[in-house]
Amino acid sequence: MSARNRAGELTVPKRCVRGHELTPRTTNIQTSANGPVGWSCVRCLREDTWTAHYARHSDPEQRGKPIPADVLAETAFERQKGARPSKHGPLEPWTKRVHFKSGWQYADEDPTPERREARRLATERAAHGVCAQGHIQRPASVYTDTKGREWCRPCRSEYAARRRAMLAASGVA
Ligand SMILES: [Zn+2]
Ligand SMILES: [Zn+2]
Repeated sequence: MSARNRAGELTVPKRCVRGHELTPRTTNIQTSANGPVGWSCVRCLREDTWTAHYARHSDPEQRGKPIPADVLAETAFERQKGARPSKHGPLEPWTKRVHFKSGWQYADEDPTPERREARRLATERAAHGVCAQGHIQRPASVYTDTKGREWCRPCRSEYAARRRAMLAASGVA
């Protein structure tokens, strides 16, 4: 699929038409002497190869076998070799002109569940702010008392727990 604009930049949508997420690991970029010219989804390619193999399989048990999820897992793919010609060498200049709407760029590490979670939290922190203790101030984490003061619920419950522990230690409770 070609989507290059006049400046020679290529924008890759968040997902392909089948709904596969597109990241450097799961996308093949076609390049010309002028830079990136198009993209294709490698999961679609793998799916098509699978379907072609199993659709007319001679063994009726195997015929039409659906593709297992782990065959399409993002960890089952590697970035295209041309993006970084030598293992620890620099990225090819064209990679800077490709923009993934999924938010995972060539300059980033490949996504993992941990990196996805870290990004999600960073987005929430930016959207809601944090208290002095670092709790994200989502609407459900903040309450206003009768005097109009705002309190952080996690801070208040930590305070209450410390207080209970102190009282228990002093033998009052
Ligand atoms: Zn796809
Ligand atoms: Zn707090």
